[in-house]
Amino acid sequence: MFERELLQLEQQHLLRKPVIVESYHGQRIMIGNRSLLLMCSNDYLGLSQHPALKQAAMSAMDLYGFGSGASRLVSGTSRIHQELEHNISLFKKTEATVLFNSGYAANTGVIPALAREGDSVFSDSLNHASIIDGCRLSRASLRIYGHKDMNHLETLLKDDGNTGQKLIITDGVFSMDGDIAPLPDLVTLAEKYDALLMVDDAHATGVLGKGGRGTVEHFGLDGRVPIQMGTLGKAFGSCGAYVSGSRNLIDFLLNRSRSYIYSTALPPAVCAASLAALKIIDNEPARRKKLWHNRDRFMAGMKSLRIDLGSSETPILPWMIGDTEKAVKVGARLFESSIFAAAVRPPSVPDGTSRIRMTLMASFSDHDIDMALAAVNKIQVEVIST
Ligand code: PMP
Repeated sequence: MFERELLQLEQQHLLRKPVIVESYHGQRIMIGNRSLLLMCSNDYLGLSQHPALKQAAMSAMDLYGFGSGASRLVSGTSRIHQELEHNISLFKKTEATVLFNSGYAANTGVIPALAREGDSVFSDSLNHASIIDGCRLSRASLRIYGHKDMNHLETLLKDDGNTGQKLIITDGVFSMDGDIAPLPDLVTLAEKYDALLMVDDAHATGVLGKGGRGTVEHFGLDGRVPIQMGTLGKAFGSCGAYVSGSRNLIDFLLNRSRSYIYSTALPPAVCAASLAALKIIDNEPARRKKLWHNRDRFMAGMKSLRIDLGSSETPILPWMIGDTEKAVKVGARLFESSIFAAAVRPPSVPDGTSRIRMTLMASFSDHDIDMALAAVNKIQVEVIST
């Protein structure tokens, strides 16, 4: 069975294999003995390499060792976990926060806790897989609305036959397209139809908003989005995730979220690194500025090459190719040109929309970007136009 399915995947150009990386050096990585420009990481601010994160993790290890030994409700929770939750609440301007081991764990833990049998979940058609899986795990009725289609969402809300809780959930920045959710309209609809609203700011935290606080800050909606989720493995350069909201919401999740209750806590050293990252995100806006400078420079270059970048509005720039075989070929040619940005294929994206998902980081130099543009230009002529 395995063999047959693997063969099928290979024939469809859909077989995935992790690439082994020997080491990371800022925006460059070593694969085998080759140095490549990393253009597919979500480490937007380059913090995973920052000495302050490494130092914070090492100091925490001196105090706590490495592993945390059990779930937080079982063997106690370190002071560092608590401090990180407190500081994220201050950052997000919410009453309380709870940490999860990953964004995947947060979405699959929070959605089933909030939406149960008799309730309805309204989910954007391009939401992340972890949201889709969270919806599947919940026993609520699932209503999928067309991507950012607020008329469709309103029709679904109006026609919803359930009398239970309504939960609207959206990516803040859509992970494969880099466009931004229409949060002000979502807030209006949530308030009009008495629905809870949850935003997944995995790709917005540290990136969007003057202070890097995400889509809520970007749109000036403080206090109007009751459930804000985000990850710590992307712009934070660390690992884990958080959910921020009212004290009651967080206390409820501590008691009802299975991925929080039944999973060993994040190592304290990881939380210490996240705390160090939060300080940098708060105090060094120049990093975010540089990220956007790099994004704008690359975007302008790609546009002048007439590359289709879909509807991107952020440092996620998808080079839309469509055909999967062609996308794989482009990924391989980029690799040969010392750029690591692999093809993203179904089921990560809808059929017929394979792409190279290119991401920018603050640590890129103008020279890196120009080198990448030159490679794209060459490959476009060789692969796409043939
Ligand atoms: N939500 C979104 C929108 C994501 O893009 C991702 C990760 N790609 C996740 C959740 C999952 O986060 P994590 O990697 O921390 O599990």
